[in-house]
Amino acid sequence: MRLYHGDILFAPRLGELTALPGGYLAVEQGVVQGVSPHLPEAWKGCPVEELGRRLLIPAFNDIHLHAAQLPMAGLGYDGTSDEWFSRYAYPTEQRYSSDLPYAREVNRDLIARLKENGIMRSVIMCATGSESTRDLMEQLMESGLGAFVGKMNSDYGAFGEAQESHQDSCAQTLELISWARGKSEKVKYILSPEFIPAVSQEMLTFLGELAQKEGLPVHSHMSEGPADLELVAGRFPQEGWYGPVWDRFGLFGQTPTVMAHCLYVTGEELELMARRGVYIAHCPNPAQNVPSGRYLSVRKALDMGIPVGLGSDIGCGHTLSMLENMVLAVQGSKMLTKEKPLTLADAFYLATKGGGSFFGRVGSFEPGYQFDALVIEDESLTRHRDYTLAERLQRLVYCGDSRNISRRFCGGNEVFI
Ligand code: FE
Repeated sequence: MRLYHGDILFAPRLGELTALPGGYLAVEQGVVQGVSPHLPEAWKGCPVEELGRRLLIPAFNDIHLHAAQLPMAGLGYDGTSDEWFSRYAYPTEQRYSSDLPYAREVNRDLIARLKENGIMRSVIMCATGSESTRDLMEQLMESGLGAFVGKMNSDYGAFGEAQESHQDSCAQTLELISWARGKSEKVKYILSPEFIPAVSQEMLTFLGELAQKEGLPVHSHMSEGPADLELVAGRFPQEGWYGPVWDRFGLFGQTPTVMAHCLYVTGEELELMARRGVYIAHCPNPAQNVPSGRYLSVRKALDMGIPVGLGSDIGCGHTLSMLENMVLAVQGSKMLTKEKPLTLADAFYLATKGGGSFFGRVGSFEPGYQFDALVIEDESLTRHRDYTLAERLQRLVYCGDSRNISRRFCGGNEVFI
């Protein structure tokens, strides 16, 4: 057993911070055994890693991003969402799918940026190409980071021509699943239909059956704006909305499921999500970069018992910084004047345990949790007066950046940048 001695802070529940100034955290075989404000008798004699007055917090988890879109983050936000797709997203994804040396560089860069930003686990949608997806999985396996990664399925032209044929999409998906099976504890395949308007009915059937048969998780988008809602209602008039369509095909919580955005979800869809434990990847950043006329009430979703985590949504979001995404989530919630806004402690919970729970016991320092942690060197932010640990977290999130992250751990192993 190994001990870490420092200023420990984590969010075991929404809105609740546990602070242990000068506390101890015990880790065995990568798993947290417990925390204590003092050195307990039973832990005496264990090797101690001295962190001084540095903060020790759970690492961040990003539960929705697009690997292929990293090179276009920040672009196309002045136009409409259609222009964003046709001028930026699709051409950028096509190059990633067809040019492997280029995709390798993008993947390498993405992993470096995830590490830099203290994101130890992520849910990543690649583009339609299978080689670039496999390369990302391989590089992630070497990196020590955890992730769910999937090749995007997009066999139905939502806004023009389909990006791939149905046959290729199915064959490549099956091939990747069998290649990835049993290869890594931390990096796993996730079924990734782009969104309902971009997949055929046959694809929904294929993926739903595959999810059940292989027990595979699901990652997609839903209810982003009026344009995609109209396409869903047009093709599936019986259901009319995303939730019941996903559900009919077994892609809505029958296996672990994460849906990004959910800006226009109905009350019934939210109830179904709560019942089925379907995660919302709340992406505060894209809702402001390419607005679609509505903003998600995270408070309402949380009050209903829906599991929620944060997503950067690179490249419709421009930053992988979970610190910035936490600020945006809090600020965004304050624009919804009828709702109780998110507190910083709420946003910290979403960025750690909220999204982390999609990966199992991840995102907290309670006993039995994976030791996914960040050591925070915040002397530059706290030199002028005394701050509580909760205030130091606020200083870090609002005024700090990735340079304040001095060490990173994933599943007990130190990850070096
Ligand atoms: Fe997205």
